[in-house]
Amino acid sequence: MKVLVINCGSSSLKYQLIDSESEKALAVGLCERIGIDGRLNHTPAGGEKVVMEAPMGNHEAAIKMVLDALTDNNHGVIKSLSEIGAVGHRVVHGGEKFASSVVITEEVIAAIEECNDLAPLHNPANLIGIRACQAIMPGVPMVGVFDTAFHQTMPPKAYLYGLPYEYYEKYKIRRYGFHGTSHSYVAKKTLDLTGLDTNNSKVIVCHLGNGASITAVLNGKSVDTSMGFTPLEGLIMGTRSGSIDPAIIEFIANKEGKSIEEIMNILQKKSGVYGMSGVSSDFRDLEAAADSGNEKAKIAKEVFIYRVARYIGSYAAAMNGVDAISFTAGLGENDMKVRASVLSYLEFLGIKVDTEKNNTRGKEIVITTDDSKVKVCVIPTNEELAIARETVALL
Ligand code: ADP
Repeated sequence: MKVLVINCGSSSLKYQLIDSESEKALAVGLCERIGIDGRLNHTPAGGEKVVMEAPMGNHEAAIKMVLDALTDNNHGVIKSLSEIGAVGHRVVHGGEKFASSVVITEEVIAAIEECNDLAPLHNPANLIGIRACQAIMPGVPMVGVFDTAFHQTMPPKAYLYGLPYEYYEKYKIRRYGFHGTSHSYVAKKTLDLTGLDTNNSKVIVCHLGNGASITAVLNGKSVDTSMGFTPLEGLIMGTRSGSIDPAIIEFIANKEGKSIEEIMNILQKKSGVYGMSGVSSDFRDLEAAADSGNEKAKIAKEVFIYRVARYIGSYAAAMNGVDAISFTAGLGENDMKVRASVLSYLEFLGIKVDTEKNNTRGKEIVITTDDSKVKVCVIPTNEELAIARETVALL
């Protein structure tokens, strides 16, 4: 079956057409500046990227352009739309309602709408994408795959905050976790690669990209994760602060005369390694600056790495041990220095890194020596393929 995977943001839309038998992407692309002017980047497998500037008044118009590109005589990859058997939609927040992927129905749409409050930037955009596909491709089955679903197995001791319980009851304020599709995909791959038995396994997945989170996966299930009520909690990220003392918010508000909204914007977009270094949110720039002697860039890197190591240590405690640790996403897959620095804190766990194997980029590999007590892997994530698999499995 050919599955169209859609990841819809407020002004952008990423897509992949995936052949579920070969598990290969037939085409990948991105619509940008929807509602502003509109640009489509479309790359057929093995072909050149095509860029088309064309007005995209809304997401429906964007999806029409995507479908035109997929069936185009020159850069298309299918003859007709009837070849698309299903659509898989990434949905950011499923609240407590969705512990797994679901076939999209009117009731499901209503339930996703009820989670809008929890992800006001993302869920409404995801719903617009779903509605637009329904309008243009009526009758094609659709599946929603939630970033939060994998973490619904967390026990209350991991998901409750130390707040008055009524806030959980009234507003569902609790830890949800994100990047679930990636954590679940990488955790499964880790078991395959290391030969661990799912029912007797303790895995820690480190998804280190611009957004970053770490998950403890016990016997195949998420039991704790570093992001919380929102994707702001936990690790220091490209531009996000990660966890801070909440009292800092009031302190800055008083000192700088800023509103809560302004401070939240700082925590989301002006903090993290970008805010600490004043250089960049991109680790490559940060490392170049650190190498050329920039002290702030050096300390930003150090703080990032230290916190990753602390989370891994705490999750080893949460599971009373760890069998395997995996690194994924932009930084985790590509940056051998960051991996080596994180792992240097964890020698007490019996981790022995094979330096040559760690000298690798973007491919699936075990980077520890054969006698290492804990296996460490690099596993490229593939959220789109995971969404396509879920879609086919449900249909
Ligand atoms: P997101 O999907 O959250 O936007 P990515 O998973 O693409 O983020 O990760 C982006 C991060 O990965 C950036 O900090 C970038 O510097 C880092 N990264 C990407 N490629 C490399 C590379 N070849 N070497 C080192 N870091 C890299």
